[in-house]
Amino acid sequence: MVKLKCGLEIHAYLVTKEKLFCKCKASRERGLAPNTLICPTCTGMPGAKPMGCLG
Ligand SMILES: [Zn+2]
Repeated sequence: MVKLKCGLEIHAYLVTKEKLFCKCKASRERGLAPNTLICPTCTGMPGAKPMGCLG
């Protein structure tokens, strides 16, 4: 018997002043180009963890 496992990936546009997993300000809020205000967490660098997981 074959067991089917399905997943769903959702992409959404969040209208927030800060990003979801770090303290970086949203560049859109300040009228800056995308990817201007970044850190290792929001760029997904190896070893970087979301806020709340730092200790
Ligand atoms: Zn960040």
